[in-house]
Amino acid sequence: MEERYEALKELGSGNFGVARLVRDKKTKELVAVKYIERGKKIDENVQREIINHRSLRHPNIVRFKEVLLTPTHLAIVMEYAAGGELFERICNAGRFSEDEARFFFQQLISGVSYCHSMEICHRDLKLENTLLDGSPMPRLKICDFGYSKSALLHSKPKSAVGTPAYIAPEVLSRKEYDGKIADVWSCGVTLYVMLVGAYPFEDPEDPRNFRKTIGRIMSVQYSIPDYVHVSAECRQLLSRIFVANPAKVTSSKANIELHLSSFSWNH
Ligand code: ADP
Repeated sequence: MEERYEALKELGSGNFGVARLVRDKKTKELVAVKYIERGKKIDENVQREIINHRSLRHPNIVRFKEVLLTPTHLAIVMEYAAGGELFERICNAGRFSEDEARFFFQQLISGVSYCHSMEICHRDLKLENTLLDGSPMPRLKICDFGYSKSALLHSKPKSAVGTPAYIAPEVLSRKEYDGKIADVWSCGVTLYVMLVGAYPFEDPEDPRNFRKTIGRIMSVQYSIPDYVHVSAECRQLLSRIFVANPAKVTSSKANIELHLSSFSWNH
């Protein structure tokens, strides 16, 4: 590791360990490295992360480069997204205009649609896992494939993983669910947060009450505040994404196509 890369700074730490910015000594390219301690932390999620992430190549997905072993850690080397998390950008802006939200959303679903075409569902799509590159017209980069599953290699998704505010109702059902449709729901939450600057299924008076949030998710109870301007097309898009039991509405494949085709709402 030290032979090839020069450590520059820490990018942050997550559930697994730290991520660092490093420079390739030969090419001078900046890359990000996620370090996971060797031992029991290297579980089947880490294996799936590596197998799935390395098979994906798309402009809206952080590019996987290589995986190395140090005496103490597993190091996943990947493209560096210099613009930080989309989450931070929303925190700073409060919320986005519909034009701005569309700009990022179209990139998000382009990356998600590609993953799905490769039979991989992400299962933890959220603003914290969508990074931006450093260009003036930022390019969105999906990262963190720690909960991803491949329909070709892995069992059907059943466990409720992800982040409460972004979880689809069927994921909470303890039955097998369609990971792709659950991703589509999370994209809907992302779109809502960009437009409104708050989570769709949290009670504004009691946002930390998970039980209440889950109740609202199960009954698909959300509204768009009057002070936010959202076009009729965009409202319709959200209403087509936030559907309580997608399998009942139509077959899952047809449903995904329906969702993805309506994603690039007009303008
Ligand atoms: P988490 O479990 O919080 O997702 P990660 O280890 O994936 O933790 O990331 C830790 C921090 O490093 C996060 O703040 C994330 O934004 C940042 N980070 C992760 N990957 C990259 C990358 N490829 N480019 C830039 N920053 C990154």
